[in-house]
Amino acid sequence: MTEMLRLDAVTAGYAGIPAVRDIGLSVASGEIVAMLGPNGAGKTTTLRTAAGILTPMTGTVAAFGRPLRRRLEQNARAGLVLVPDTRGVFHSLTVRENLTLARRRRGDSLDDVLDLFPALRELMGRRCGQLSGGEQQMLAIAKALVHRPRVLLIDEMSMGLAPVAVQALLPSIRALADRFAVGVLLVEQHIDLALSIADRAVVLHHGRIVLTGPAAELRADRNAVAEAYFGAS
Ligand code: ATP
Repeated sequence: MTEMLRLDAVTAGYAGIPAVRDIGLSVASGEIVAMLGPNGAGKTTTLRTAAGILTPMTGTVAAFGRPLRRRLEQNARAGLVLVPDTRGVFHSLTVRENLTLARRRRGDSLDDVLDLFPALRELMGRRCGQLSGGEQQMLAIAKALVHRPRVLLIDEMSMGLAPVAVQALLPSIRALADRFAVGVLLVEQHIDLALSIADRAVVLHHGRIVLTGPAAELRADRNAVAEAYFGAS
């Protein structure tokens, strides 16, 4: 597996005050790395730094073997894509119109993207304002996939969704990693669901990585995860 994204000893924050410290992690092609941790642990800050939105105070971020570019569009064009939340979906347009707008070239096919989200196929003519939260989230991910990303950074796509909707969405993330060899850094509050589709996981607490390992091992040792999560150790 080729390494796609790498953070080394990254400290980052706001107005000169670190929110995360000494973060080291990597994501390979086709790999899903789940980033877990309580509110305020630093997950979003880490993701924003990985996306190039925040510049590290110290440490380095590299995508596809080279340091991140200064401009977000350059990183996006290279294949590093932050999945925006559903605010990136145009409510007055149909699903088809939203997806068509996301294409860069006329020839870009939507078929293989829609294969991942069969539910969207049924909704192509529907205005997005009339979709459920889960359906809108599917569309936001599908729009990101139209750009053929090599790494997807996904921040709490389950926010505000019913657990049943999350349960329906997460397998599509596994499928897109497998089918398109996309590397995924996934911030997710539903620990069990995240671990069930991830290859590896990191747990953040107070801005530091306090636990990391194969997802299967963390699933088997929920006490270790709970201790890391709540800082009981
Ligand atoms: P949550 O699960 O609640 O979204 P998180 O793990 O994503 O939390 P972050 O949003 O990365 O955590 O926040 C980490 C720390 O940085 C928190 O102490 C938070 O208050 C602080 N922080 C986040 N955004 C800003 C900002 N724009 N300006 C200043 N401090 C911020």
